[in-house]
Amino acid sequence: MTHAVELPVENTDARPSALRALPQRCKLCGVEQDAAPVAICEHCLGPLEPLYSPDRRLPSRATIESRATSLWRYREWLPFDWSGVADDALPDVLSPDTGFTPLVHAPRLAERLGVARAWIKNDAVSHPTLSFKDRVVSTAINAARSFGLDTVGCASTGNLANAVAAHAARAAMQAWIFIPEDLEEGKVIGTLVYGPNLVRVRGHYDDVNRLCAQLADRFGWGIVNVNLRGYYGEGSKTMAFEIAEQLGWRLPDAVLAPMAGGSLLTKLRRGFSEFAEAGLVEGELPRMYGAQAEGCAPIVRLFESGGAALVPETPHTIARSIAIGNPADGAFAVKAMRDSRGSAQKVSDEALVEGIRVLAQTTGIFTETAGGVTVAAALALAANGHFRRGDEIVLCITGNGLKTTDAVRDALPAAPLVNAKVREVAALVAERDGGGPGLGARR
Ligand SMILES: *Cc1c(COP(=O)(O)O)cnc(C)c1O
Ligand SMILES: [Zn+2]
Repeated sequence: MTHAVELPVENTDARPSALRALPQRCKLCGVEQDAAPVAICEHCLGPLEPLYSPDRRLPSRATIESRATSLWRYREWLPFDWSGVADDALPDVLSPDTGFTPLVHAPRLAERLGVARAWIKNDAVSHPTLSFKDRVVSTAINAARSFGLDTVGCASTGNLANAVAAHAARAAMQAWIFIPEDLEEGKVIGTLVYGPNLVRVRGHYDDVNRLCAQLADRFGWGIVNVNLRGYYGEGSKTMAFEIAEQLGWRLPDAVLAPMAGGSLLTKLRRGFSEFAEAGLVEGELPRMYGAQAEGCAPIVRLFESGGAALVPETPHTIARSIAIGNPADGAFAVKAMRDSRGSAQKVSDEALVEGIRVLAQTTGIFTETAGGVTVAAALALAANGHFRRGDEIVLCITGNGLKTTDAVRDALPAAPLVNAKVREVAALVAERDGGGPGLGARR
């Protein structure tokens, strides 16, 4: 028997762009540049950033609240021209469903940290690839389409590979993805399944990144964190916008985040200050705390040195997703931490594994190594007196633990194996309770 089913036609071929990317301006010398897949100033080699019109109309809290729960509800702060688009309409954007992850109250963790209240901003459940990289790819892929590019790519430490592959698949775009040779299997499988061109490169992330800068020019690809980097970075701000809205349009006292290239931490601060400038929130901007693993902590070491020149490192840590030895936004991240009166913290691999367990066992959230770094850094900062009793703090948990199970496997007890006999379980219960058969054993 056959059914004639009328399916709604989804137009996924190269559509005329509904969005127009904004022009950019050099963060160092201020020179302006037309919208283009270019990330470096041709005059001074400084980084380019999208240039927003100061007279664009900004939405009220109520307008934002009336919109769909995705990062596009903050579209006036995302790098496209929205003039002529109705307040409550979302035009034809790619990746319309990313963002608005849960802000999870964490009283048991607050107690451990000796602060009044703590929350987890839980991008471990980001749609669709379970890390905050979905945010940056959402903005970058729309920039790629606005430039008429049909191929996107990235140099990745793992999560970005997952995100580019998934978002490109949905958009029917080609993807060329480059990763260091030693990535975790979870990250490799979680990329390959989407059918991209995945290439493993001998060397560290910084070698991969250098290669990608050359490839972008050679093949005319939109490498999201290379020649689309100005548009990519803007996606990170939405994590700050969501935190402020989900706290009831308030700012926390302190925010912690892991640092790889240093973009997320820099853009979180930018996001909080843009909301303050727009009058959507009041009061002091949060103190920003950045975390890295000791085996790759060039940004933390720059912060600690008090100097201005970052010294690149060769990574040696299991926190591969944040193992960038020569971080592009390192100096900006240091500035964000200094200007906000925050700090930087590095932690050992052992401490990060313990951090993963502490988070899981106090909040029910299973994070990857980068999240373990963040939690371990929070514990170290608390021990060193960086937090006050009355502080309200937010930990940005940026990735999912199911992608890096190897990191914790050896730190967890083996599960006992029993025959299907009550007696055998009763013995385990007795052992667990440290006495004879438990009182509640018989009913
Ligand atoms: C990429 C990444 C970060 C930090 O990225 P930045 O390059 O500093 O913006 C943090 N956590 C996870 C899990 C990541 O994949
Ligand atoms: Zn310049």
